[in-house]
Amino acid sequence: MSRDTLLAVENLSVYYGQFRALVGATISVGAGEIVSIIGANGAGKSSLLKAIVGQADRIEGAIRFEGSDLAGRSTADIVAGGVALVPEGRRLFPSLTVEENLHIGWEVGRRGEIGFDDIYRFFPILKDKRRQLAGELSGGQQQMVAVGRALLANPKLLLCDEISLGLAPTVIKDLYEIIPAIKARGIGILVVEQDITRSLAVADRFYCLLEGKVNLSGRPAETSHDTVVKHYFGL
Ligand code: ATP
Repeated sequence: MSRDTLLAVENLSVYYGQFRALVGATISVGAGEIVSIIGANGAGKSSLLKAIVGQADRIEGAIRFEGSDLAGRSTADIVAGGVALVPEGRRLFPSLTVEENLHIGWEVGRRGEIGFDDIYRFFPILKDKRRQLAGELSGGQQQMVAVGRALLANPKLLLCDEISLGLAPTVIKDLYEIIPAIKARGIGILVVEQDITRSLAVADRFYCLLEGKVNLSGRPAETSHDTVVKHYFGL
């Protein structure tokens, strides 16, 4: 493990009852590094993220964050320690305002240099809508709130689960545009997407999952698109 490795997932398996959704995966993310996890529906991507934030029922293997094992720690403890998740489907409180939803991230996280002004600079539309109920926003704006909430926890490691799902290309572009600024702050980012092109365009390194197993990993610039597609579909 190199000195600035933030996350080291070692030989990790995640179980639902007898079913093993993730099978012996070894994955790392460094500080200021963007790592993409690609894989088709059901490949095990969300199971990996759930395990990292302490929400998997049963795991085998190790999940080390800054060198210490996260196994057995509560989600609240893991978030307070510097890991934030933008969950699949956003999970906002629709009857709370934008600002109140953002505040939740601020409350549960660590104190750090990211504040509300940064979020409103990343997503100016949220400043205009800060007193509006989250449930009244468009899907894209709600996703911005979900990303903002995670960032206000001042994570060292940000986990993003399919943030582009179901959104218009222009909105996806707005969401992805802030990633370099997050990376520049030294935050490690683990991006889970089904969209191969989008995901690889932003990544320093990637891992491809097929039926719970890592079947390819590398740097996008050093791997042909054909090779990625073949592994993605298990051809
Ligand atoms: P998607 O893109 O559909 O979110 P994914 O790559 O994130 O897929 P996971 O959600 O991690 O995949 O699911 C991996 C496997 O585990 C799938 O076969 C799925 O049916 C199964 N699975 C996920 N959650 C549960 C659960 N709560 N109980 C039982 N099986 C589950």
